[in-house]
Amino acid sequence: MGRRRRRFCVKCGALEAPDNPIVDGLCLKCLTEERPLFEVKSKRKLVVCPVCSSYLVDNSWVKGTGDVEETIRMLAHRMVEEGLRPVPPAEGAELLSVEVVRRRGGKYFAEVTAEVIVKGAKTVQTLTVPLDVEKKPCPKCLMKSGKDYDAVLQIRSESGRVTLEELRTAGELFAKAGSGEDVVELVDQKNGLDVLLVSKEVAKRAAQLMRFNMGAKIIESYSVVGMRKDGKVRTRLTISVRLPKLKGGEGLLFFGEPAIFEGFNKGKFSLYLLHSDKELKLPTDEWWQLRKSGKIKYLDEVYLKVGTVESENPLKVNVGGEVVEAEGPPDLELGEEVYVIEYKGKVYALPKEPR
Ligand SMILES: [Zn+2]
Ligand SMILES: [Zn+2]
Repeated sequence: MGRRRRRFCVKCGALEAPDNPIVDGLCLKCLTEERPLFEVKSKRKLVVCPVCSSYLVDNSWVKGTGDVEETIRMLAHRMVEEGLRPVPPAEGAELLSVEVVRRRGGKYFAEVTAEVIVKGAKTVQTLTVPLDVEKKPCPKCLMKSGKDYDAVLQIRSESGRVTLEELRTAGELFAKAGSGEDVVELVDQKNGLDVLLVSKEVAKRAAQLMRFNMGAKIIESYSVVGMRKDGKVRTRLTISVRLPKLKGGEGLLFFGEPAIFEGFNKGKFSLYLLHSDKELKLPTDEWWQLRKSGKIKYLDEVYLKVGTVESENPLKVNVGGEVVEAEGPPDLELGEEVYVIEYKGKVYALPKEPR
């Protein structure tokens, strides 16, 4: 039975042991000090927007953490995790920690600590990996800084004036359509508000939300505003958003028949037709088509007699001294001014003021 010669480390003289194997003449402890036992493969450039912390992935910008340095740390961590490989004689490497440091001159490094396995024994090594970080404004931020925009949403109302409440609702829908970073500027107009947006997509989404939730009429148009760097024509999208003027409880004429507008909900206008005694739900687009063709008329758009409610039950209306029986919504009050409409041999009274 020959005695096996125990090997020793040429650097420190340590004898070979199960937890301190000798590799290429060095003990594991010395090997760890002398040579890199892992590497970070697939090192790529980290491109981060210094304004909004967005970062570039395969030619498209992705929203960052909100903090530029934190985003760089996150990206470095991800890159190291994906690219960590053992370097022979190491057989395995497991990431323990990544610390991103910024040195003088603004260069970034990752201090990577990993546990590596050599001949079945474990050792821990820390290596400094240079990071290729580029800070470059994303297109959105570039546009914003130049006050440039790709889409305008013109919020207007049939009434000629957009109310604060309507603007508040519109603002909530904007928040749903995109992030606050999409709005370049708000421009007050006499008859409404212009919202200047970086993205055509966000503008379209916001407009569709206003169509569905507020009954707005939407008209899109494009105009050419110059050339892009790549020589292609640059267009700007203008979306006209027209809000309906009717308030719940107001009267109108539907194909000449007196009706009450009951409200707007989930893309549909609700009407109550007084003569036919039935409820009608009209999708937004249909409503606006009928408005355009004059089949739906508001009461201040036609000439109508005005009277006052003389008795509630039965409903009687005084029109120029003559008292007539009429039909109307149940909530008309004594003395209230009403529009008086004759339709198919009957007299109808509709409220003059919305409630
Ligand atoms: Zn040694
Ligand atoms: Zn940015």
